[in-house]
Amino acid sequence: GPALTAADPEVAALIGEEIRRQNDGLELIASENFVSPAVLEAMGSPLTNKYAEGLPRKRYYGGCEIVDQIEQLAIDRAKELFGADHANVQPHSGASANFAAFTAFLKPGDTFLGMDLSNGGHLTHGSPVNFSGILYRAISYGVTDEGLLDYDQMRELARTHRPKMIIAGYSAYSRAIDWQAFAEVASEIGAIFMVDMAHFAGLAATGVYPSPVPYADVVTTTTHKTLRGPRGGMILCKAEHQKAIDKSVFPGAQGGPLEHVIAAKAVSFREALRPDFADYCRRVVANAKALAGAFVARGFHVVSGGTDNHLMLLDLRNRGLTGKVAEKALDAAGITVNKNTVPKETQSPFVTSGIRVGTPAVTTRGFGEAEMGTVADLMDRALADAENAAVAESVREEVRALAARFPLYPATADLTHG
Ligand code: PLP
Repeated sequence: GPALTAADPEVAALIGEEIRRQNDGLELIASENFVSPAVLEAMGSPLTNKYAEGLPRKRYYGGCEIVDQIEQLAIDRAKELFGADHANVQPHSGASANFAAFTAFLKPGDTFLGMDLSNGGHLTHGSPVNFSGILYRAISYGVTDEGLLDYDQMRELARTHRPKMIIAGYSAYSRAIDWQAFAEVASEIGAIFMVDMAHFAGLAATGVYPSPVPYADVVTTTTHKTLRGPRGGMILCKAEHQKAIDKSVFPGAQGGPLEHVIAAKAVSFREALRPDFADYCRRVVANAKALAGAFVARGFHVVSGGTDNHLMLLDLRNRGLTGKVAEKALDAAGITVNKNTVPKETQSPFVTSGIRVGTPAVTTRGFGEAEMGTVADLMDRALADAENAAVAESVREEVRALAARFPLYPATADLTHG
């Protein structure tokens, strides 16, 4: 926009380049999406100027009468969208939401059970380099050799270690999760049942994927993945945990809430309550299933053989590739994915044997099942000769042409100032 271009041409030009990168490429990172211009506008508003420590109508600052109404809208819409007793919309991110959920229920040194990072869990589910593994005693379950959640192992570990909390919901798991099975074990040993639905929140909101909300004591999420809102976090919980959760977010974990981001969350929740968002979520999953099928048809090893949600893992060992090499080759061709560990991983987390591929972002652009075959073809070609710059360039040209058929942000010039 004109103000930014005048004040800071360097940053303005780089934002312009990034918008072009997003427009021209194929975004297949499973945790990314494209928000609407309405969400962008709310985020870029003067609400960023306001301090509002506390909760609506219980603030530590004056002048909160407008942001109170905005935050209350976000809370009410979140509760409606997920059928939750309570929502706290203040967490700055998914990791912050998880930090607050942990501190609401655990004391340092307490034991909890989660899925480890290399099997598909998130850093905040017990990694030794994260607060979750530093402050608490993390016990980890994983997946079977076929890449399916190992419920038997989870049950056995729960009964042996009697953790205070059990976590389900992952960053790289493509199959439906049996929430009831977790809830039963948690109830048997008197543990809190926490679900991190960051990845599939949009799918759960619309019934396209099983919702954990009826089963879990507490559900954390990001708002920027399948839910297609601004970058941020949120916590839902049963009424009995409302006070503990609110207190652990503020003053426990954070200072002033980001009311401009909370406004954008409210806008995205309103969008998600509309029937066309449910339709979008159905297309995300249909596209993922079509893409997994197209990979299998081209000889790729799709972990667990397919997907029930928006993502899949490709184990590239049968193609003689590491995740690191594949990620780089695809990047050169304008296709963005991330390297990812796979079941029975033999490489370090910096190298890995696989990639994670997701459909939320391309589906927002309007890609349908017909395009999924093309996407698999382009990836197949780029990976068949991963270190060949000419191949990458020729795929890059086709990626550009495909992307041009599905314009992302038509009025790109307006998006740098909201
Ligand atoms: N939880 C899960 C399951 C995730 O996949 C992620 C991010 O990828 C997070 C939490 C963390 O979210 P954020 O990056 O907003 O802190």
